[in-house]
Amino acid sequence: MRASAKVVAVTGASSGIGEATALRLAADGHHVLLGARRTDRLEQLTARIIADGGSASFRRLDVTDAADVRAFVATARERYGRLDVVVDNAGVMPLSPLAELKVDEWDRMIDVNVRGVLHGIAAALPVMREQGGGHFVNIASVGAYEVSPTAAVYCATKFAVRAISEGLRQESAGDIRVSVVSPGVTESELADSISDPVAREAMKTYRSVTIPAEAIADAVAFAISRPAEVDVNEIVIRPAAGA
Ligand code: NDP
Repeated sequence: MRASAKVVAVTGASSGIGEATALRLAADGHHVLLGARRTDRLEQLTARIIADGGSASFRRLDVTDAADVRAFVATARERYGRLDVVVDNAGVMPLSPLAELKVDEWDRMIDVNVRGVLHGIAAALPVMREQGGGHFVNIASVGAYEVSPTAAVYCATKFAVRAISEGLRQESAGDIRVSVVSPGVTESELADSISDPVAREAMKTYRSVTIPAEAIADAVAFAISRPAEVDVNEIVIRPAAGA
């Protein structure tokens, strides 16, 4: 293993930002463990990285299940001997007006976007402490800074990701780095799960200008590549001409 090569576990690596991040970090020489539910996608991505000369493997992962996230982290240690970075990226965004009372979709956002990040911390923090260091890169959103109509619950989950990350940073006393990367509108499959017609229509205008997922992967790669004593706390990346 190259001295600067890190072992990085990426959640939600089967599409969009997670996929682009896995490709970028593998190209940078890191060992990437890919997790998501769609294992066919993970298998293809792993094969692509290996064909390009990189180091990757995958494991099915549902971040809403704390035991499964623990097993994912354990897999990184079994395969690579350690775990340096967790990219808590898995997320869902089924937007709707609150008055539509889509309680199941609220719960899903809370389970994936908030509990998923907490499960990542619960699984990896003891491992990182034992190793004497580690790095969480948590993917929030511009919705972690401002609320817009139909996005109350989604924004609440992303405000929570920032709050949890800041708390972790304050409590970590130097051995654990914590970075929050907040994308604006980025090309991905994120809006595909919006079931509400009003929110779906609004998203067409909102998402008319996008940046590629590689732009977010660049930010993750930057945060990871800083010297151990430098902690990049927050990066916000928006389309120059959009939201
Ligand atoms: P995608 O929909 O393309 O990717 C979401 C990823 O999350 C998929 O790989 C999906 O994999 C995974 N995922 C969803 N549920 C679970 C679960 N229960 N367990 C494990 N993995 C899960 O969207 P993006 O790439 O855009 O989203 C990545 C992150 O970026 C999210 O946190 C999102 O909120 C955030 N973000 C995105 C923005 C954008 O404009 N694209 C803007 C701001 C923030 P699978 O279904 O295979 O499990």
